[in-house]
Amino acid sequence: MQSVIDRFIRYIQIDTQSIHKSDSYPSTAKQLDLARLLVDELKDLGLEDAAMDKYGYVTATLPANSNKQGLPVVGFLAHMDTSPDLSGADVNPQFIEDYDGGRVVLNAEKGISMSPEEFPDLKKYIGKTLITTDGTTLLGADDKAGVAEIMAAVEYLLEHPEIQHGTLKIGFTPDEEVGSGVDHFDVEAFGADFAYTVDGGEVGEVQYENFNAAGAELTIHGRNVHPGKSKLKMRNALIIGMELNDLLPVFERPEFTENYEGFYHLYQFGGTVEQASMTYIIRDHDREKFETKKALLGEAVDYINAKYGDQIIDVKIKDQYYNMREQVELHPEIIEIAIQAIQAVGLTPIIDPVRGGTDGSRLSYMGLPTPNVFTGGHYGHGKYEFIPTFAMEKAVEVLVKIAELVAEG
Ligand SMILES: [Zn+2]
Repeated sequence: MQSVIDRFIRYIQIDTQSIHKSDSYPSTAKQLDLARLLVDELKDLGLEDAAMDKYGYVTATLPANSNKQGLPVVGFLAHMDTSPDLSGADVNPQFIEDYDGGRVVLNAEKGISMSPEEFPDLKKYIGKTLITTDGTTLLGADDKAGVAEIMAAVEYLLEHPEIQHGTLKIGFTPDEEVGSGVDHFDVEAFGADFAYTVDGGEVGEVQYENFNAAGAELTIHGRNVHPGKSKLKMRNALIIGMELNDLLPVFERPEFTENYEGFYHLYQFGGTVEQASMTYIIRDHDREKFETKKALLGEAVDYINAKYGDQIIDVKIKDQYYNMREQVELHPEIIEIAIQAIQAVGLTPIIDPVRGGTDGSRLSYMGLPTPNVFTGGHYGHGKYEFIPTFAMEKAVEVLVKIAELVAEG
């Protein structure tokens, strides 16, 4: 069997960075390089129907080897793209063997290192082997670790026919990092009853809650007048934007929130006296609080418009995805199976809310309940991303165990 580590190292050599605001799907053609490789590898393993569709989705079926009737069809999903935040080209992984708990030098020449004080997750892996970057790119464990773990689990099941399992569906998606991972995903054709994304973090993690999410785009119409002659005439769109932001609760910003606390995040603000634009994302796990947050932003806009007696601010608020909990909780056995599998391989389950979304957040509302299990990776989307090798091996064991537990019924 190829080790999951070998697979991972091979997959991260392929640059699959996705980009925002692209006219094509997937957003970058280079993601298809990995997609094609995966189709070939799935076929080599013997998954005859392995294919890539016109959108770049890779799907394949591992047929059941159990003759029990009526077993549910389980899907395993991971995304092939890496974050637009940092380059994923020319990734040069470093192996830190028997990690001693000290500062990890990523790149001596460039003076890039990470200390366990700043990156406390490191302390959990003393004595383990870590795979890190060389400080110039991201690693791509998010989510090529998930891809490698699913591939290795499929291979393991094929090599161990004594492990009985039902039908498994494999799916690899593009463009997850730009929020479009399941835009064209055909849930019906995929044919699973439920699925797991393998896109989580720390070893042992299972997640079935994520944010409710909306985006708000504001346009502020100012009135520019020569500043020397503007008394009681000028309306400065930039100042009015700041005024609006001041009406939102200060402590409901990302930098002051954690766990189940939601936020308003102003992530773009620019323009001139004449016209400015602001973009927020709004997040909350609780649906009622989420609705309240959106309403409060609307009221703040109304207040400014009323104050100036004019339609000074136009706002468009659009829901992006919802907390999968509402859907997944209807099928508690899906979570139970994941928890049992994690325990069965000797780990302690960590159940925590995703402070973001996954492909599963939208899939769960498209009729495919899809919680998220760990890959083992930490600090994704940047040069401090790392993954312990044992965590990847554990993830493979968990996926195999899930298949086995589902077949036991
Ligand atoms: Zn991911």
